[in-house]
Amino acid sequence: MELTWFGTAGFRIKTDKHTILIDPYFSRNDKALPRQSLKPSDIQDGDVILISHGHFDHIYDVPTLSSNTGAKVYCGNGIGEALIRNGMERGQIHEVNSAGENFDFNGIQAQAFFSQHVKFDRWLIFKTLARINFRLLRYLPLIREYPEGQVLSWRLIVEGKTIHHFGSAGSTSDELARLGSQPTDILLVPLQGHSDIIQIAHKYVTALQPKVVIPNHQDNFFPPISTMVDPQPFAELVKQTNPDAEIKILEINETVSF
Ligand SMILES: [Zn+2]
Repeated sequence: MELTWFGTAGFRIKTDKHTILIDPYFSRNDKALPRQSLKPSDIQDGDVILISHGHFDHIYDVPTLSSNTGAKVYCGNGIGEALIRNGMERGQIHEVNSAGENFDFNGIQAQAFFSQHVKFDRWLIFKTLARINFRLLRYLPLIREYPEGQVLSWRLIVEGKTIHHFGSAGSTSDELARLGSQPTDILLVPLQGHSDIIQIAHKYVTALQPKVVIPNHQDNFFPPISTMVDPQPFAELVKQTNPDAEIKILEINETVSF
């Protein structure tokens, strides 16, 4: 399989038979770093789109991508309305109603688990508001019109390998312990949304003990709402505690094969 990181929590997983997009988001502003050269219209392959939660940096481009590719969208409760408001048809949307719901996408097994969004801490909120400053009114609709909804994490079994995707790092210890009772080969873990995100993301590694760790969401996707998170301290920490794990820090739009 080929796995491509699109920045934020966006990935494409491609096999000979099937293409899955997760949280695909391309429409950044012109201050975003690194720059995303792809536009939604550049993505013409995708059989299904999986969503972790409803914030704009996860679903903004989904109606366009779904109409380009015909892909059906799988998301948590409370997200479908935002997609419909932005042009999607209800029949193209499947809202996951029960935790642990299983899907078979042409031989790729997918399971949706209920998860939680990271709780922004006060220091991060203070720094973010100081940066946004007088532009708050301009960005408020983008935040208000894309409610979080039920947060999901996705476990995929692709060509015998288990991939676990998280689009936000608010999982409880119980949730991680439960998920850790089954083996994970490749962990996609987000580095965004909390001043202690390195330590928080590290808990995911400790609980799931993956063979490969791929951080996501560390990019500065929408300044001044976002900032860049340096993934190196996370990589160092994982190296100390899990010396056998492979940490892959991808460039935007980089593809790796498994
Ligand atoms: Zn979010």
